[in-house]
Amino acid sequence: MKILIIEDELKTEQYLRRGMTEAGFVTDGARDGRDGLHLALTESYDLVILDVMLPGIDGWEILKRMRRAERHFPVLILSARDQVVDRVKGLELGADDYLLKPFDFAELLARVRAILRRGKANQAVEKLQVADLELNLTSRRVTRAGKRIGVTAKEFTLLEFIMRRQGEVLPRSLIASQVWDMNFDSDTNVIEVAMRRLRAKVDDDFDVKLIRTIRGMGYVLEAPEG
Ligand code: CA
Repeated sequence: MKILIIEDELKTEQYLRRGMTEAGFVTDGARDGRDGLHLALTESYDLVILDVMLPGIDGWEILKRMRRAERHFPVLILSARDQVVDRVKGLELGADDYLLKPFDFAELLARVRAILRRGKANQAVEKLQVADLELNLTSRRVTRAGKRIGVTAKEFTLLEFIMRRQGEVLPRSLIASQVWDMNFDSDTNVIEVAMRRLRAKVDDDFDVKLIRTIRGMGYVLEAPEG
């Protein structure tokens, strides 16, 4: 994973590069706008950390020109400008996140990782598949062994969630928070009922069962071995 850091303040740039390197990233650095823009337009990165106030060309202009040139790497803006209007401007120009200086490195790293995860999830995956179960994200159809399975919108979301994490035991609390936006304290019966319905649709007509309940832990979807 390669990150471009465009930051004119020497100490901050060094601090960022050191931190990112320690976190396992490869970094390039630029300390003025023109160098930064040049790198952003000619090299390939997984993410750009971009300061706004820069000598030469400012961060807004770099972002604008990158997007115009179809350079779509995620951009995290790092700026001392804390006006709401600046934040909005950054996001409208196509930044993926905006962090204020002074910043906490742990937070920056968490945000960088979140952006990179999102990017992965958004890559043009059209279909999820586990054994003969297929979920098409474009047509929003579910099939098993080529046979169409009718699901509600909620069941689709639930199935997508457990298929993306196939083989993982998913606690009810996690499903509640990720699929229903509910707290664990809420009535988890909702999840049990929904899982029962989904399992009936996905597994009842087939000898091989893909969704299992792990007592006291949660649910897992996986293709049985062999
Ligand atoms: Ca600056």
